[in-house]
Amino acid sequence: MIEVVDLYKNFGGTSVLKSVSLAVRAGEVCVIIGPSGSGKTTLLRCLNYLEVPDAGQIRVGGFTSAVNHLAGNNRLIRQLRQQTGMVFQQFNLFPHRTALENVMEGLLTVKNTPRQEAQRQGLLWLAKMGLEEKAAAYPGQLSGGQKQRVAIARAMAMEPAVLLLDEPTSALDPELVGEVLLALKKLAQEGITMVVVTHEMGFAREVAHKVVFMDEGIIVAEGPPQQVFASANPRIKAFTAQLL
Ligand code: ADP
Repeated sequence: MIEVVDLYKNFGGTSVLKSVSLAVRAGEVCVIIGPSGSGKTTLLRCLNYLEVPDAGQIRVGGFTSAVNHLAGNNRLIRQLRQQTGMVFQQFNLFPHRTALENVMEGLLTVKNTPRQEAQRQGLLWLAKMGLEEKAAAYPGQLSGGQKQRVAIARAMAMEPAVLLLDEPTSALDPELVGEVLLALKKLAQEGITMVVVTHEMGFAREVAHKVVFMDEGIIVAEGPPQQVFASANPRIKAFTAQLL
């Protein structure tokens, strides 16, 4: 479902991704872990061209392109983004729209879905996230966990090939982390392909099919959670020890 080959990204002369290659199968949950500044978020954002990679090849769902063909090609960029749903640490909801309006927005403006149908689908996704009764609430009236579940509903309503989540629970009070992880676990059980950057090691162990450990812009190790967490690699040991 996702195949990244030899991805490079520099920020002002600093090499942040150095020949990163990654494959994620349909229905797999891939969790990216690693120290702060190792390039996790940059990799995730390159997958939908929110960051512009310098070189490499990206395949997501039905989309394939060398990244240098994407530059300035809005039609191709749109095609790539249609394959991806993105969930951010800070939710990024429209504050002056209700939960339902937030979920409907992309359906109305990008997919030209008729309003009534967009509403039906929006309510369906809110219900799946356990938020049916919050449809008319504004983001300011919701807890962080509820806001993030609205953001997940909004991403999923577009029926992306893959869901990309950038530290989806990092901005939440500890008691709200569980409800968001549970919602993601349910989506995983339904076979949604996901790439999640997170520090939640319990989630990685329990839900991930594949854990990718990044450090200094390269993938140091990848594999099933048990294998990566049992790694003798000193960088991985140091990282996981500090999270215990
Ligand atoms: P992680 O998600 O693993 O914490 P990031 O991908 O956010 O790492 O960042 C990797 C490196 O790239 C860091 O050194 C960070 O400072 C740098 N970086 C990220 N975004 C930018 C940017 N927009 N401009 C300049 N440097 C950036």
